Amino acid sequence: MARKKFIAGNWKENGLLAEAKQLVQELIPLVKDITTADIAVCPPYLAIPAVHELIDGTNIQLGAQNAFSTEAKGALVQKGAYTGEVSPAMLKDAGCQWVILGHSERRQYFGETDEKVNVKVRACYEAGVKPIVCVGETLEERDGGKTASVVEKQIRGCLAGLPADRMAETVIAYEPVWAIGTGRTATPDQAQEVHAQIRGLLTELFGKDTAEAVRIQYGGSMKPDNAAELLAQPDIDGGLIGGASLKAGDFAAIIDAAK
Ligand code: PEP
Repeated sequence: MARKKFIAGNWKENGLLAEAKQLVQELIPLVKDITTADIAVCPPYLAIPAVHELIDGTNIQLGAQNAFSTEAKGALVQKGAYTGEVSPAMLKDAGCQWVILGHSERRQYFGETDEKVNVKVRACYEAGVKPIVCVGETLEERDGGKTASVVEKQIRGCLAGLPADRMAETVIAYEPVWAIGTGRTATPDQAQEVHAQIRGLLTELFGKDTAEAVRIQYGGSMKPDNAAELLAQPDIDGGLIGGASLKAGDFAAIIDAAK
């Protein structure tokens, strides 16, 4: 099955409002003729309304970098007494089609776990927002030969019990922690090996047809000069881009490489 490439920009905690607007205004004309890849930007929460307005009618989709939900009284929480949090339903209301969940920075600094991600994914399905679920090993885990077991545990935990008929709208991002923001990229072979492993797990969990439909992005120092080679791998269906998504020209060049 041909999977359409999907390139998403994770702006992280960057961009005051004026900068966010400028970035997206620069990006719009650079990518307007691209039909070969789906494109999304994930600004900080506060820039979401302004970016939403600017990308209206363009080929750029909108995402967020996190969402909160939990289970209370047998239901998935979309509102309530959870100071400081933003639910999938609120993101949907603000125009988001996508939300990044389980990013390694959230795991490292904010106590995100596979179990919490699993609940959030289900809340996203309920709200009609599509999740981008991040997995990936640390350098210590890779050097210890634990990459496959770490990724398997994350995939099984994050996707436990999810309905197969919602999986095709879910994106997995394989992001080796040692490659995020470090300038050190996984080689195409290293990335492809893990992507193929993830697709094998998806086949076991959800069946072959579903596994073939799920897009698996690579993330970790993807740049204009290494994107084409990574994106040419059979199981690499796009990229989750951090640093390079903050420069419109670099982000557009990566999208252009996703042909
Ligand atoms: C990320 O944080 O999702 C990421 C891939 O960052 P970078 O591209 O900067 O490595």
